[in-house]
Amino acid sequence: MNNPIIVPTQSYQRLFVPPRIIRKHFILVSIVVLQLVISGQGFSLRSPTTQFQQHNQEHQRGEILEGTIQEQAIINGEIIMPKDNSSSSSKNNTKKNKSQPSFDVKSCWSKAGIGTCFVLEETTHKKFQVVFDLGCTPIFDQTMTASHVVLSHVHMDHFGAIFGHARAHSMVCGGSTPTYYIPEELVPKIQKARELFSDIDATCRDDPESQAQKREKGLLNMKIVPVQAGKEIEIKQKKVHNGVKYYLRPFDVSHCGHPSLGYSLVSKTCKKELKEEYRGMDGKELGKLARSGVAINGTEIVEKIQACYSGDTNLDGLILNGENSSQEEADADVQSRRNLKEALTAPLVMCELTYILESDRELAKERGHINLFDIQPILKSHNRELTKDKNHDKGDNSDDNARVQNDQKFIFYHLSSRGRTAENILQTMATALPDDVVQKSEVALASFPSTTASHLLKDNGCISIADFVNHSPQKSSST
Ligand SMILES: [Zn+2]
Ligand SMILES: [Zn+2]
Repeated sequence: MNNPIIVPTQSYQRLFVPPRIIRKHFILVSIVVLQLVISGQGFSLRSPTTQFQQHNQEHQRGEILEGTIQEQAIINGEIIMPKDNSSSSSKNNTKKNKSQPSFDVKSCWSKAGIGTCFVLEETTHKKFQVVFDLGCTPIFDQTMTASHVVLSHVHMDHFGAIFGHARAHSMVCGGSTPTYYIPEELVPKIQKARELFSDIDATCRDDPESQAQKREKGLLNMKIVPVQAGKEIEIKQKKVHNGVKYYLRPFDVSHCGHPSLGYSLVSKTCKKELKEEYRGMDGKELGKLARSGVAINGTEIVEKIQACYSGDTNLDGLILNGENSSQEEADADVQSRRNLKEALTAPLVMCELTYILESDRELAKERGHINLFDIQPILKSHNRELTKDKNHDKGDNSDDNARVQNDQKFIFYHLSSRGRTAENILQTMATALPDDVVQKSEVALASFPSTTASHLLKDNGCISIADFVNHSPQKSSST
């Protein structure tokens, strides 16, 4: 009954104001209190003794409470869900907390060797954005407000715009510092480049002597966080909305010896609910129990793999080679492979694909990229049952349901142009890929010329292969 409950720290804060100060500075205190109310921040006016006693009582109960709902429930004798800064209504919070976050690609642009960038947005609450790779692309303006940028590796087409982003973000977001998650080995070079870019930016012909000072002042606002394969890292938000925190789980990929990572993006939702044994109980009874020190609320962390981003890799980086680890293998390698396995189960998989001709399979492997004909072996290594049936008849609904078994979407990106059109790429992919993959796939083609498929381009910069197949002239004439 009195099992300890570990409750994560909330952004809830207390403000202690001694009564003497209240009397002396009544107007000033009133303004501060009014501002706190307007900004929606929690506060309490209590003596230090009360706070200390409260703290002791909490620990005697074996609960670790850091400004949490259990504390409020006991003070007020009411069952209140945890305070959440994003909303003033605890009732609303309860509802929102129950809906899991989900992600979609808001915008993407990609072409091999030119630039790659993905802007992902959480679609349920729309409170969180993350950018994967930041090469120079036409969607730069859509990345500017994003506070979190994750780099798969540091080839120019994937990181070329980060310094511009740091400056632009600071300008449009009131001096805020964005965070860049970068493979650990590459961090010293990025730091050097940051200093050099800042130095160049501070150049002054009229007053060269003040340059050192200017450089100091003008160092680009960037928080750089080193990332290692197999080590989970939290994407630290300024404010946690709806009890959801986000994490990156990086895994090693294979890109010609360049330090490159793939990622899964994971959400962890902290849910606090009345324990099952107390549901249906009268409110007053619950209040009594809470006051007597019974922990009536339980805490549950619900984890969800949201998205996978492969970065640049050849098929070796995504093939899952068994699950048994040898004794010599380091823990980080084992965890890295687990992260890869888990990543490919995400509802949204962004997978690089550079070459589409079967004759280029060896070339793709040598150059550290994926070939269209590698997709099937990769998915099979992850135990996917694939339907090869290309004689897909739209009228046969029962079979449709069997083919598209899970709610997973693939977005293929990083295609090589080599004078190809969007139609040419889509047609080749529709022919080569298993039917159930075709049904779930989109291709980042905003940068490719198109004559008949341009109207299929979605706002996110992708064309669905199934849309292309269904709108192709052959299909129309045969139905
Ligand atoms: Zn690339
Ligand atoms: Zn690369």
